[in-house]
Amino acid sequence: MKHTYILVCLFLFISACSSGKIYQTTSDSGYQAFTGATILNGQGGTPIKDGVLLIRKGQVVAVGPRNKVKIPEVAIIEDVTGKFIMPGIINGHGHVGDVKGIEPGHYSRENLLDNLGLYGRYGITTVVSLGGDKKEAEPLRAIHDSTTTQRARLFIAGEVITGKTPAEALAVVEQNHRLGVDFMKIRVDDQLGTAPKMPAAVYRAVIKRSHQLGYKIATHLYSLADARDLLLAGSDLLAHSVRDQPVDAAFIQLLKKKKAGYCPTLTRELSTFVYGDTAAFFQDPFFRREYDSLTIQPLIDPARQSQMRQSKSAQTYQQQLPTAMANLKKLSDQGIPIVFGTDSGMPARFMGYFEHLEMEMMAEAGLTPRQIITAATKNAAHYLGLKNVGTLTRGNWADFLVLDADPLTDIRNVRKLNGVFISGEKVEK
Ligand SMILES: [Zn+2]
Repeated sequence: MKHTYILVCLFLFISACSSGKIYQTTSDSGYQAFTGATILNGQGGTPIKDGVLLIRKGQVVAVGPRNKVKIPEVAIIEDVTGKFIMPGIINGHGHVGDVKGIEPGHYSRENLLDNLGLYGRYGITTVVSLGGDKKEAEPLRAIHDSTTTQRARLFIAGEVITGKTPAEALAVVEQNHRLGVDFMKIRVDDQLGTAPKMPAAVYRAVIKRSHQLGYKIATHLYSLADARDLLLAGSDLLAHSVRDQPVDAAFIQLLKKKKAGYCPTLTRELSTFVYGDTAAFFQDPFFRREYDSLTIQPLIDPARQSQMRQSKSAQTYQQQLPTAMANLKKLSDQGIPIVFGTDSGMPARFMGYFEHLEMEMMAEAGLTPRQIITAATKNAAHYLGLKNVGTLTRGNWADFLVLDADPLTDIRNVRKLNGVFISGEKVEK
């Protein structure tokens, strides 16, 4: 036993010297033990100091303090003393597969894998795509892969359901059902008066049928009145902020009664006006590690910037962002489950980076790092019904982040990614 230990240490030492990386490949036994870190398991409790995260074949076997977890002799030991481990981020409202750089129209299996890789490298280990999903996405869904490789897990909603009549909309529900989606998604919004809004009779029929088929339903909404009626109709997730006015006590009571999640997507609002000038984050090295000058070129074109500054809708969304942020804080204070999401994966909503920006905006709105992390891990999994992800507990996938600094003292420390692991496998840069 002692010899094995010495050999393992020697091996770790040699490979650390030669490659500069501290992580090994999986042992034949499939056991890996990450030792010495402070572990946030995603349940929202007190972090485990000097913890052990024991994994076998991509799944969590045990999490606990060093003296409580028995590490099998055959395990590969990863000493991560001084680091912080938390579950991977779940984006409960993203889009995947269509955008390359900032250009739409690239939907393909290859681009899906590219997008999911990008999310993964930023520590977003699961993405719930709420619409625009085509047949190429179905075989890549989380349900089919026991071990994902170098990419985020994927859940899909198929096509966003639209229709002027219940019959038209129900045909889309059936089409999504045949595709094999994880959720249904509808949009109830007149886009600031520029588009027809789905009538209540139509969305009531869609929600009813979706529930009959066993699907949760996520709804795109804008106004308090629509949010209220959608909850009454049975919506399981409000997939954007209420932005037109402050939420009131009756609405909070209704949200509690319906046990629905609330997904703020603050960066969606940001993206509607931030390119009126040169966005400050274009200089951020954490942004530039994945997005180059060529990609952002169109967004720094003065003519385009001026057009955005003059856009009425951009001005309206900007004016209403403080309402969205105040509503988030109020709902969170009232104990409403906040589900993390960004609406990234649309043009100029930068996948991976926007999730970090969203966490910072949630902090700016007044949420604590602990509340933000809970929204992005346990809540996202629970309120979207995602299986075996979200917390580091026995039987769940070992999707986690190793961080160089404590995310509970500053949410920006989630950027200090020492390693991203999906099914226990390190996502390479
Ligand atoms: Zn969306």
